[in-house]
Amino acid sequence: NAVPTVALNNGTTIPQLGFGVYQIKPADTVAATLAALEVGYRHIDTAQMYGNEKEVGRAVRDSGLPRADVFVTSKLNNGFHAHDDALKAFDRSLDDLGFDYLDLFLIHWPLPAVGDFVETWRAMEEIYRSGRAKAVGVSNFQPHHLRRLLDETEVVPAVNQVEVHPYLTQDAVRAFDTEHGIATEAWSPIAQGKVLDDPVITRIAQRLGRTPAQVTLRWHLQRGDIVFPKSVTRSRVEENFALFDFELTPDDMAAVSGLNRDERTGPDPDTFNWIP
Ligand code: NAD
Repeated sequence: NAVPTVALNNGTTIPQLGFGVYQIKPADTVAATLAALEVGYRHIDTAQMYGNEKEVGRAVRDSGLPRADVFVTSKLNNGFHAHDDALKAFDRSLDDLGFDYLDLFLIHWPLPAVGDFVETWRAMEEIYRSGRAKAVGVSNFQPHHLRRLLDETEVVPAVNQVEVHPYLTQDAVRAFDTEHGIATEAWSPIAQGKVLDDPVITRIAQRLGRTPAQVTLRWHLQRGDIVFPKSVTRSRVEENFALFDFELTPDDMAAVSGLNRDERTGPDPDTFNWIP
């Protein structure tokens, strides 16, 4: 398929477009993931917190695709930041997925008031060195959190997965990531639908004969970020994959970036300390 890959700092590669399964009920996850794999997605983003790793693993097996052809990410749940808990939780993810390795394993949130995410990262380094996660990274880390990992540990995170969309362009986080060889993944890339009525986006969509979702996802891809929009509707899953036969002009790119208003749809990583 036409999906470009992004090279990570440890020599592995990741498809720039994937499929996210947050808020897909376990009972719907096998069908939704199988549909995405049929459409051509080869990158699935799940997490321990989403409660659907078993179903993601089943879908990958049921698809008949070789395991090596599908890039699968999962994330450490917030209750397991202590070193030994992190190792055990990773084992459980592999068990639930039915895999002998993950392509990418992330610390889901830094939880600055809960414990020391640097200790958690040392467990992630052990998992990486064991070869059972081909790459390790973080999610929702601000530059000052990343700075501590860079200063106090050895492995540089391969990715930082943060909320990014036209209303939250995250210029400072993305610049820090880039400067340190960390790939940025953009979660809630269409702000869970909130940006789709924006007149700037709908006007570009009309001119190009594309949908607002396609324009927004294309904007992410041209900025170089990795995205994995979520949908359980087959037509939207197809629509969100049809991004490689059109282009935004530099003016379109600037107009969409100009919509930034530093507006989060999700929690602020500096104050979010929730444990399920
Ligand atoms: P999203 O921006 O992908 O929006 C998804 C919602 O938008 C869907 O529920 C659907 O209602 C709608 N939608 C999708 N495609 C559409 C289309 N073509 N036209 C109209 N509406 C459409 O939001 P998300 O699910 O929050 O984020 C995507 C993925 O990012 C998640 O599934 C998950 O994998 C990841 N994520 C990670 C974190 C984190 O903390 N690391 C947090 C949230 C999400």
